[in-house]
Amino acid sequence: MIEIENVRKSFGSLEVLKGIDLTVPRGEVLTVIGGSGSGKSTLLTCINGLEPINAGRILVDGTEVHAKTTNLNRLRQKIGIVFQQWNAFPHLTVKENVMLAPRKVLRQSKAEAEEMAVRQLTHVGLGDKLDVYPGRLSGGQQQRMAIARALAMTPDYMLFDEVTSALDPQLVGEVLDTLRLLASEGMTMICVTHEMKFAREVSDRVAFFHKGVMAEIAPPADLFDNPKDPELQRFLAATH
Ligand code: ADP
Ligand code: MG
Repeated sequence: MIEIENVRKSFGSLEVLKGIDLTVPRGEVLTVIGGSGSGKSTLLTCINGLEPINAGRILVDGTEVHAKTTNLNRLRQKIGIVFQQWNAFPHLTVKENVMLAPRKVLRQSKAEAEEMAVRQLTHVGLGDKLDVYPGRLSGGQQQRMAIARALAMTPDYMLFDEVTSALDPQLVGEVLDTLRLLASEGMTMICVTHEMKFAREVSDRVAFFHKGVMAEIAPPADLFDNPKDPELQRFLAATH
């Protein structure tokens, strides 16, 4: 599980996380919504130790992410992260791109890494694109490749940061379908998203961030149909 305890994070004099408390148990699908600049991306980068924090602590399966003694590389193998865009290596095929981290970080044999890459690419619906170059893929296919690449490390947690935001509208559905598939398989996921319909369908809980504060967290039916926080009410009115 992921335990976030009174986490504060500043960039210079700007405090962007103002005391976040949140526990994400194994198997939960949590979506995070909120306006631009509310601290959603920062939360994800703090969870996998890409960013230091100023106060509080984050535990992943009991290991404190920001403790000096923590092996961050080992911890990050447990936590896959997918961003809006990932620049694949253009001179490597889709399969070779997915094999890279298991080869380098997990020191898998070529055969092992290849088997895993084929399995994960097939899983996200790219079994027919193994040997093409990334430049040949649509935006939606590229995002699914990025998801397969994260899955090839066999993570226990997946963090998704607006993975459909850069896509043409007609390509959003195929990526959301991949996220739905992972959710149905029991993957523990934190998804930052603007897709409210998706959030409502797939989430166990939805968290609303506003100006560095988690202003509300609730199951989707409660949060969307009976929002209590005035800022959340405003946010939902503006997005519908
Ligand atoms: P969100 O993902 O909700 O849009 P972010 O977590 O990206 O918000 O950003 C929260 C605030 O922190 C914003 O005001 C943003 O400008 C600022 N910020 C984010 N990353 C950095 C950085 N590396 N350096 C300085 N300020 C940053
Ligand atoms: Mg963001």
